[in-house]
Amino acid sequence: MEVLKMANSRVCLLRHSFNSFLRTALPTRRFVMSSSISSKEPLVASLSAKEAVITSNDSENPKNSTRWKPMCLYYTQDKCTMMQDSSHLQKFNHGFSLEHAVNADEYKNKHSEHFDFFLVLDLEGKVEILEFPVLMIDARTMDVVAFFHRFVRPSRMSEERVNQYIKGKYGKLGVDRVWHDTAIPFDEVIVQFEEWMAKHSLCSKELGGPLHRAAFVTCGNWDIKTKIPAQCEVSKMKLPSYFMEWINLKDIYLNFYKRRAPGMRTMMNELKIPLLGSHHLGIDDTKNIWRVLQRMLMDGAVLKITARRNPLIPEKVEFLFENRIK
Ligand SMILES: [Zn+2]
Repeated sequence: MEVLKMANSRVCLLRHSFNSFLRTALPTRRFVMSSSISSKEPLVASLSAKEAVITSNDSENPKNSTRWKPMCLYYTQDKCTMMQDSSHLQKFNHGFSLEHAVNADEYKNKHSEHFDFFLVLDLEGKVEILEFPVLMIDARTMDVVAFFHRFVRPSRMSEERVNQYIKGKYGKLGVDRVWHDTAIPFDEVIVQFEEWMAKHSLCSKELGGPLHRAAFVTCGNWDIKTKIPAQCEVSKMKLPSYFMEWINLKDIYLNFYKRRAPGMRTMMNELKIPLLGSHHLGIDDTKNIWRVLQRMLMDGAVLKITARRNPLIPEKVEFLFENRIK
């Protein structure tokens, strides 16, 4: 499956970059040149046929058995230029909602009284942040209603170091090219993220302040407690006020199921949810965390804030659950 996905990603990236080259260099001959791409179609078609066999094997609920295909990582960043190309649309996902439809009828009346939306966030990057993906989940339907995804360009690393870093991390997933095509510095990501939040009435861009009827959901405390402030320091920015509190799904899991889960994969194994996509590709991890979140809500878990910063001393974090993963 991984091999197929990588092969497909490469085909996608090649076609994307080739098409953008054509648009830049030979705009009037695009149709003619595009036809020459079609000579590669047998390869694409055979991959596509094999890909169609790939399904999630959620044997507990046949309704959840859905065909899986890789996300278009240009689309997730509002940069897909191939939305008119039907073979591209067939090969890559350009949406979230149809993939993991759950039966919302079973779930009604269980919905959160605390929040209208959950923002599932799963950062990637150890030295500096490399990827910033957020899924906006409707707390009532448990569906993705919007998403924000950016690859992030480190600000304190030499070009050579960045290239090595990206080759090591994203090269093996076959998405290093899209990273290089799209990554922008963290401060620009935050500006765009705030515009996105304002558009969805999650937070007032002018006033700043906490989230409005929404909460970040992360797998662990590292993302918001540690990595965001560290990156803000590197990028010489003030810590945005909406990163003051969050829900650590591991703590909710521990208190609800009465068992520890050190990571996302453990939760997925125990709940018998098959891992989809590439683990440690941030956008795929957010989707898997979303599926864990769906299951936990279906099972009756109530999501509450698990950690909150001291408003006067933001580096001080208060953990609100007595039983928690340390
Ligand atoms: Zn696309």
